[in-house]
Amino acid sequence: MTLDGIDALVVGMKKSGMASAELLAGQGAMVRATDLKPLDELPGARPLLERLRIPFARQTPEVFQGCDLIVLSPDVPADLPPLEEARRRGVRVLGEVELAAPFLKGRTIGITGSNGKTTTTSLIGHILREAGVTVQVGGNIGTPVTAMVASSRDDGWNVLELSSFQLETIDRFRAHIGLALNVTQNHLDRHHTFENYAAAKGRLFETMHTVDVAVLNAEDPVCVRYADRTVAGIEWFSSRRNVSPGASLCGEKLVLESKLLMDAAEIPIRGRHNVENVLAASVAAARAGVDRERIRAAVRTFQAVEHRLEFVRQVSGIEFYNDSKATSVDATLKALEAFPGRLWVILGGKDKGLDYGVLREPLAARAHAALLIGAAAAKIADQLQGALPLVDSRTLDAAAAYAYAHGKPGDTVLLAPACASFDQFRDFEHRGEVFKQIVHQLQPKD
Ligand code: ADP
Repeated sequence: MTLDGIDALVVGMKKSGMASAELLAGQGAMVRATDLKPLDELPGARPLLERLRIPFARQTPEVFQGCDLIVLSPDVPADLPPLEEARRRGVRVLGEVELAAPFLKGRTIGITGSNGKTTTTSLIGHILREAGVTVQVGGNIGTPVTAMVASSRDDGWNVLELSSFQLETIDRFRAHIGLALNVTQNHLDRHHTFENYAAAKGRLFETMHTVDVAVLNAEDPVCVRYADRTVAGIEWFSSRRNVSPGASLCGEKLVLESKLLMDAAEIPIRGRHNVENVLAASVAAARAGVDRERIRAAVRTFQAVEHRLEFVRQVSGIEFYNDSKATSVDATLKALEAFPGRLWVILGGKDKGLDYGVLREPLAARAHAALLIGAAAAKIADQLQGALPLVDSRTLDAAAAYAYAHGKPGDTVLLAPACASFDQFRDFEHRGEVFKQIVHQLQPKD
């Protein structure tokens, strides 16, 4: 794709928009930038745009006039009316990942799914790195793909976490290994229907070539259907039955290409869902040329991604886990299932209209008490009443202090709040950081 001299508009001036603007300018395009927010509310944008001499205008329908190419940031809906109109005029409208595609050197592993993307992307990066493979990790997980172009190498791998928003506009972007973990209801505000959402993720498999490999969850009906939408070879993974070719959990053993990979007990990250992530990552790593022994050794040293069932500390025999990323009831269920029992569970935050009643049984079976914080506390108390002791803690500080004071050696204090964080914190990362600080300040009980 030649960008030299074309008129390009970048929509959305956060990390990925800024990286797109830089790549476009570097390729000789005449770039303009826009955003719904004023420039002063967009951290880092002003210096970058000034350095590259890129003009900025607040987003209005007129801004979309007079360009040959429009590059969208992931949080810009691809079906905005001015974009539809621009397409009718023959303007190319694409996302940041598609923009990067022709310039990205080396081979690519693309990871998508509703849950587990970040963990599996980090795990694949870790396995490849430990095996001595040249690798860079990015996409939705952090570094925009356009910002990875300069550091990409012909003999290296790009391991990319890809969201439905990044995938819906791809055309030339190609994953040599594409992986779908699961597809469940999500982001319906943007994609309108589940079918659209599933189709956006499925684009990953439609642009693959016959020599490529699609790694799919054999237990997920949407992932299974992706097999019909690709010319790539298929490998499966399953935590429930033996599948071939691919990886399976058989009893408590992980099997890769019909040979023992490792015992489930050797996996340092907790929960059945993480076994699935390891199975998927192992198939991808094997197809990237890493042998079983190296995969096993690397999995054994993988540490949970921050805020995802992350072990924080043991103090006076009590273990603390930070799963601040558990912002839905589903994620909290998964976290509860990852522990045999003796839990003190911190729940609450900003309610997302979910039904907390489904937590009654697992909490009653596994927890001494639930410690309730934040704006959703009253609703949660209402729905959990009678299932287990409830403590009205209000703040994270008070909840952790109560659990620590009443906990006994062998107990676990788990932050898996089932709610968004915005009532008391900036975001789930901030909530997790605060929790960890509180835990690190606890003094041993004599
Ligand atoms: P994502 O990047 O897709 O949001 P993460 O790796 O950050 O995924 O995990 C987010 C949450 O999703 C975890 O806290 C866990 O509850 C859940 N999760 C992780 N892996 C899986 C999986 N394979 N299947 C279902 N749920 C998962």
